[in-house]
Amino acid sequence: MSDVSTDNRGKATMEKITSLAKRRGFVFQSSEIYGGQSGAWDYGPLGIELKNRIARNWWREMTQLHDDIVGLDAAILMHPRVWEASGHVENFTDPLVDCKKCKARFRADQIPQENLSSKKCPDCGGELTDTRKFNLMFKTHIGPVEKNDDSNAVYLRPETAQGIYVNYKNIIQSSRMKIPFGIAQIGKAFRNEIVTKNFIFRTCEFEQMEMQYFVKPGTDVEWFNKWKERRWAYYEKLGVKMDSLRWHQHGSDELAHYAKDAYDIEYLFPMGWKELEGVHNRSNYDLSRHAQFSGKDLQYIDQENNNERYIPFIIETSAGLTRTLLMLICDAYDEEKVADKGSGGTEASGDDWRTVLRFHPAIAPVTVAVLPLMKKDGLAEMALDIRQELKEDYTTDYDQAGAIGRRYRRQDEAGTPFCVTVDYESKENGTVTLRFRDSMEQVRVHKNELASRLREEIKAYKRTK
Ligand code: ATP
Repeated sequence: MSDVSTDNRGKATMEKITSLAKRRGFVFQSSEIYGGQSGAWDYGPLGIELKNRIARNWWREMTQLHDDIVGLDAAILMHPRVWEASGHVENFTDPLVDCKKCKARFRADQIPQENLSSKKCPDCGGELTDTRKFNLMFKTHIGPVEKNDDSNAVYLRPETAQGIYVNYKNIIQSSRMKIPFGIAQIGKAFRNEIVTKNFIFRTCEFEQMEMQYFVKPGTDVEWFNKWKERRWAYYEKLGVKMDSLRWHQHGSDELAHYAKDAYDIEYLFPMGWKELEGVHNRSNYDLSRHAQFSGKDLQYIDQENNNERYIPFIIETSAGLTRTLLMLICDAYDEEKVADKGSGGTEASGDDWRTVLRFHPAIAPVTVAVLPLMKKDGLAEMALDIRQELKEDYTTDYDQAGAIGRRYRRQDEAGTPFCVTVDYESKENGTVTLRFRDSMEQVRVHKNELASRLREEIKAYKRTK
């Protein structure tokens, strides 16, 4: 059944989200005019604004609001020994099977067990190959010559975390951080994923927001629980629907060889519950391995405690930035019947349904749109002046084309929390209407008070729908 059918009205589906994302310039397929590049996506004007805001919001949460966390931006290309020490060369593999008949390739852990045991292709019934390991790291080489022996091979980092571990000593020495402390990093990561379906959920090129928190052994469980609480509270603060989030503890079959305990925060995406972020107690595995492989002493020396030495434990919070962006679009997506709603009849747009992205104003790509009721009679000039003033503090949009109801709908669909409309009364007394996306309510505010009023509204924002 098609998505536009009345059955699907009011529901978020991946088809609708993907189509809205393209139509409104959030996300485009990479290299689309050449037929597209699977596993890669481009972020359009609204998408990059949203991505930057999510990143900035996370960065603020981690660094500005935590005195014990500092930032880092490490290189994507690292010494190849890093990936031997981390275990990625040996263990970062997916189990793969191929169908000999239709040539389809599957992740062995993602097809039904009965297909695997009978070696039967879930698509065509043909015979499957044995399961083999496939390393997910992208390999390239440094320098102009590709050597046969791989001696100049390097990898595109499959996670940002290792850049943090190898800089842990540099940061202690340069920033005088004392345990417990954390290092935050946002950056690109690359994985040669076999199955890249579900839009930007799983891609070959993506971004991560990771924070690695270094603690004294024995205090790790306490810190692990603290970070679980903090990460949960973070999503609450962003106005995410909390009944669409849950914890999933890794069972012994999922737990990575280095992890002492691991939980994922899962979100109820339109295609089901899926991992959004991992909060892991990684024990002292990472630093012990890097000490062993680099030959450097990576022990922490606790000068306040008789120079006690130990290899710190690491509590990791690892979220996908691009996956968070998808989650926030899905979470914000709403379709609402609006017949006869809205003040002064200005909500009439010829359609009694509206699509609205209920983004928290702190991350909405455009904070405020300024709309002159008419282009003529000096209203456009006044609206442009108001926009000019608001620009200093907010991301703004300006739209003078078409009926005002339709213009509100366009802003709703982009997730713009506030619209300012300049009308004839504005010319008389300097007041404008401030329209709220979620409730569609309108109030009159003097134009000189707009910037401060918006600041208050953003601070006090609570999602109600
Ligand atoms: P999965 O089991 O889904 O492959 P993972 O457990 O390997 O993921 P981690 O290595 O813990 O994922 O990565 C941390 C976070 O990075 C994930 O929670 C996710 O948000 C994000 N992430 C990982 N792989 C991808 C990808 N291929 N595309 C987009 N985001 C990803």
